[in-house]
Amino acid sequence: MRDNRIILHIDMDSFFASAEIRENPDLKGRPVVVGADPKAGKGRGVVSTASYEARKFGIRSGMPISRAYRLCPSAVFLPVNFSLYDRVSDEIMKILRSYAGKFQQVSIDEAYLDVSNIGSFEAAVELAKRIKQEIYGKEKLTCSVGIAPSKIIAKIASDHQKPDGLTSVEPSRIKEFLSPLPVRKIIGIGKKTEAELNAIGIKTIGQLAEYDIQKLISRFGKWGIYMHDLASGIDESEVEEEECCKSISRELTFEQDTDDPEILDRTLHSMAEDVHRALIEEGFLFKTLTIKVRYSNFITRTRSRTLVHFTDDPAAIKSLSAELFRDFLEGRKIRLVGIRLSNLEKTGSRQKYIEEFTSPA
Ligand SMILES: [Mg+2]
Repeated sequence: MRDNRIILHIDMDSFFASAEIRENPDLKGRPVVVGADPKAGKGRGVVSTASYEARKFGIRSGMPISRAYRLCPSAVFLPVNFSLYDRVSDEIMKILRSYAGKFQQVSIDEAYLDVSNIGSFEAAVELAKRIKQEIYGKEKLTCSVGIAPSKIIAKIASDHQKPDGLTSVEPSRIKEFLSPLPVRKIIGIGKKTEAELNAIGIKTIGQLAEYDIQKLISRFGKWGIYMHDLASGIDESEVEEEECCKSISRELTFEQDTDDPEILDRTLHSMAEDVHRALIEEGFLFKTLTIKVRYSNFITRTRSRTLVHFTDDPAAIKSLSAELFRDFLEGRKIRLVGIRLSNLEKTGSRQKYIEEFTSPA
């Protein structure tokens, strides 16, 4: 294993709930649950995020919302507001990106940074403190950071002391850090594998690392080797920017639902200009454009088109969005419209313009 790498994993603390609390300080100190509507205990759907106060009642992400309601009926239940979280996430990722040449966003509130060139774990700890301060200073949100020579250990470390944690696992401490932890801490080991491992007496990562690899292979196949490697702290995977998961989007809810073609047209046009500006600012080309429409009755529809080539041509954004939107103009009143650019690529030498497109479905 290459011990000379230094990788940071940054994970925002109860991100959706924290963003809501930041927007509405009255919620501070109260149990906040973001997710489906609990409908006084009859609601379907699940908890998306629970604030730390809500977690004290045993409420967890992924739990049925009806159960969360039973655990704490007086909690503040809020719907998921992705446009808020997207906006905050963009600001946080901008900060993180500025700290490392190699940056990989893995979800709306998590990223890896490869800071190997900083030279030492001590320096990386100082850097992590600066990052935490900058995020808190600018966004008033806390995060937890893990520092380690590999992505998997950095991720386990960021989860080690939450919220507002900072855990550094130097190469010499890997074994001591991992050994006592339950196998479930390894990404990919879910409930089912955990139960199978427990059944053969493996409860901790240390026990997994020491277990006879041949026996693991005969039981789990290739996955056995992978698990054994991870338990031993072996993970060579690199921090790499993945543009595939990123997107740039804008949406707008009208003050009053409307079917006025002129208002809709004007809104779409200015939104196209907005996403274009963001695309240029962030230095991306796009390939897929999606239009989203929510009608008065809250039914939401989307239509997408993927181009043959990457582009950042404003005319392409305007004409595509107008074309896709046409199908939604059917006299029904519209509550919200949105444009999303996805399938992004960093601006390079390639530059294609609209004349070069053909438009497959
Ligand atoms: Mg998080």
